[in-house]
Amino acid sequence: MFIENKNSRVQQVFFSEIEKKNISLFIKREDELHPFISGNKYRKLKYNLAEASRQKKQTLLTFGGAYSNHIAATAAAGFEFGFKTIGVIRGDELGKNIPKTIEENPTLRFASQHKMNFEFVTRSDYRTKTSETFISKLKEKFGDFYLVPEGGTNKLAVKGCEEILVEEDKKYDVICSAIGTGGTISGIINSTQPTQQVIGFPALKGDFLNTDIKKYVKNNNWQLHTAYSFGGYAKVSKELITFINKFKTETNIPLDPVYTGKMMFGIVDLIKKDFFKSGTKILAIHTGGLQGIDGMNLHLKKKKLPQII
Ligand SMILES: *Cc1c(COP(=O)(O)O)cnc(C)c1O
Repeated sequence: MFIENKNSRVQQVFFSEIEKKNISLFIKREDELHPFISGNKYRKLKYNLAEASRQKKQTLLTFGGAYSNHIAATAAAGFEFGFKTIGVIRGDELGKNIPKTIEENPTLRFASQHKMNFEFVTRSDYRTKTSETFISKLKEKFGDFYLVPEGGTNKLAVKGCEEILVEEDKKYDVICSAIGTGGTISGIINSTQPTQQVIGFPALKGDFLNTDIKKYVKNNNWQLHTAYSFGGYAKVSKELITFINKFKTETNIPLDPVYTGKMMFGIVDLIKKDFFKSGTKILAIHTGGLQGIDGMNLHLKKKKLPQII
């Protein structure tokens, strides 16, 4: 089995808030790699699917929250490349009335339409998901499977993410990426030139990331900016939503609220604060995640907050 290697386009970003600064900002549209296996998830699954097929596995099993981009991407990838998929989803309350859950949750509805089977588990069971007891229980229930970790990060995922940057991208001084588990930025770091700087914007709080990234990389031309997580994973503010909408209106580039919106907010803020020296060429990676907008809008509507356009 072979998943095609693809290259995404790069476009220059013209945004009013930074137009007076002598910085050129570009964005690499990994979100356009595949209509459903979006952005970095395509990269992360590529070699894992090849390995699953080499091991003659027929089923992929993975973990995620109810709005996870990784769950949606794994369902779509399994559907397209001929694997059964099982999604172990955090939140046993969602399993009490599955038709209702699927009706109300756009991500799980999408995954279900792509034939994913779900196993809803309590939050405390979910925390033990890497333990042998938990995994052997899953094997008893579902039979043999190829396990893709939460968020999809492992060595093969990092290898796939080393294909995000190509020869032409050597001309950028700074490469920026959003971070969840750190697999994507690790692949990016491994494929940069020593003269390039990589900046990561974690979408969640916590200090574990430095250690996680160091497991996969040798270079030290990278740094994390932790001030742009907006209070934690999938937390948003009115300011962030307003920013995402203004960015979309001016540039026609959609950003997701969990990852790329926070990264771009951070990049624009750093540019405004003259963090980069004059003349710097920045390449931001659009890692995708746009499937999450519908679910977030339902949440924003309930909270009577403005929605993402
Ligand atoms: C999953 C995801 C990330 C995080 O990738 P990691 O490899 O876990 O750091 C970033 N951006 C988007 C849009 C994602 O869906």
